[in-house]
Amino acid sequence: MNSEELFKKSLKYVPGGVHSPVRSFKGLHTTPRFINRGKGAFIWDEDGKDYVDFCMSFGPLIHGHQDPDIKEAIIKALDNGWTFGACEKYSLELAEYIVDRISFIEQIRFTNSGTEAVMAAVRLARGITGRAKIIKFNGCYHGHLDAMLIKAGSGLAGTAEASSKGVTSHQAEDTLICELGDLEEVKKVFEDHKDQIAAIFIEPLPANNGLLIQDESFLNGLRDLCNQHCALLVFDEVISGFRIGFGGMAEKTGVIPDLVTYGKIIGGGMPVGAVAGPRKFMEFLAPLGPVYQAGTLSGNPVAMAAGLANCKKLTPEAYARLDQQTEAVVKLMKDWMDKNGFEDFEVIRYGSLFYPIPFKGKLTKITQLPANMNERFKKLFEVFLNKGIYLAPNGYEVGFGSLAHDGKVQEELKRRLWT
Ligand SMILES: *Cc1c(COP(=O)(O)O)cnc(C)c1O
Repeated sequence: MNSEELFKKSLKYVPGGVHSPVRSFKGLHTTPRFINRGKGAFIWDEDGKDYVDFCMSFGPLIHGHQDPDIKEAIIKALDNGWTFGACEKYSLELAEYIVDRISFIEQIRFTNSGTEAVMAAVRLARGITGRAKIIKFNGCYHGHLDAMLIKAGSGLAGTAEASSKGVTSHQAEDTLICELGDLEEVKKVFEDHKDQIAAIFIEPLPANNGLLIQDESFLNGLRDLCNQHCALLVFDEVISGFRIGFGGMAEKTGVIPDLVTYGKIIGGGMPVGAVAGPRKFMEFLAPLGPVYQAGTLSGNPVAMAAGLANCKKLTPEAYARLDQQTEAVVKLMKDWMDKNGFEDFEVIRYGSLFYPIPFKGKLTKITQLPANMNERFKKLFEVFLNKGIYLAPNGYEVGFGSLAHDGKVQEELKRRLWT
């Protein structure tokens, strides 16, 4: 069966035919491609067509598909069994490897996804401070937990409402929404909710609704406000962690969070997330502390072995190459776009993340995204897909460079663009 037939069949058995909504190609001109193989920077679909992949499973595959070292580690771990629900050495090794290399964390707890990690961080922040409310920013995504599926309300400033049915108004009451970059607003929200705010949650490099690069002074300002109000600053580095350098944006900016969440890259393509921080906070977690968190498959040896092999390859040299390679692919795309009817686009880049958008200037807030972006993205996506170049199938998603997008792949990308 080809992709179209498989998708039609999927619609019968699975809601919307997908197990995560962003895969659905909703609003695009075609049905989702069923992928049956990936290798390096390429994926192949069930129709026999190949693509240069810039989705890379939405981030985890920083070394490309089927990295041989990660594959070997997975097979080796697999040979001894894949889950014990008991202590085992790979999870210890991965914890040690990460904690030794990220200066501001002393302990780490592994989960199975980014969402789970954020869920644990929300509960932990509330447990540590004894306060209920959290601040989140319009345009940041933190996974699909109730506390984060909240948007700014239509009523008074500061009011919020659920962005999904099934999330209660009580949940919405405890999540306060602010605009990225607006320190004055955050200040006011703290004053309006004195001694009630447990934490600020932010993607220090917001990359789930376009790429909304923040000034360091804003992150510093949040740090100061949290100190002033005895609230925690939580960096959700599920996308930026291990991508913008090993220690993510915290390392890059020097703005140190109280808790940090990881996901995506940390498992090398296996389902892993983590919450981490100083011992004094992490020890609030069960079994030592009063904040409950658990997971049947958390820290399973196969995922941990993959994460470990993956992390060990993330050397300073790797990051330099990742940056240079992404710069090169972005330039190739932009050169082509400028001469082929997409000259209204800018391709914003930060390290190995990039975002093509019909907008010129400095993009820092979701409210700046232009009204025609979906129409324009649809066109770009369609042209690229036909040329064998795979972008994430949604105008809000960033593109992901990887270490597999080397000189040879760049040549191939250039050939595909211009033929
Ligand atoms: C992807 C993402 C999540 C959710 O992670 P899942 O593994 O999809 O649950 C949370 N926060 C950020 C910043 C993300 O990019």
